[in-house]
Amino acid sequence: MTGRRGDDDASCCDARLKTGGRCERPPAAGNGRCFQHGGARGVGAPQGNRNNWRDGFYSRAAKAERRRINGFIRECLRTLREFDGS
Ligand SMILES: [Zn+2]
Repeated sequence: MTGRRGDDDASCCDARLKTGGRCERPPAAGNGRCFQHGGARGVGAPQGNRNNWRDGFYSRAAKAERRRINGFIRECLRTLREFDGS
């Protein structure tokens, strides 16, 4: 593990404690923290998780799709008005 902490000592968890000291438990998993400080396996959202995904409403593709549909509707309305006017 490099670049995560300044002193970069991966031999212990080293999380800051309320008491001012450092956690000295051995790291449990890949991120160098012990099981009490976020090191447990499976902690955190997995890659590509959609727990906070709101039907894709704000996604780039959804916005483009809405713009396309709105343009199509505008086109339809304009065509209808042209028929009405003549
Ligand atoms: Zn710890």
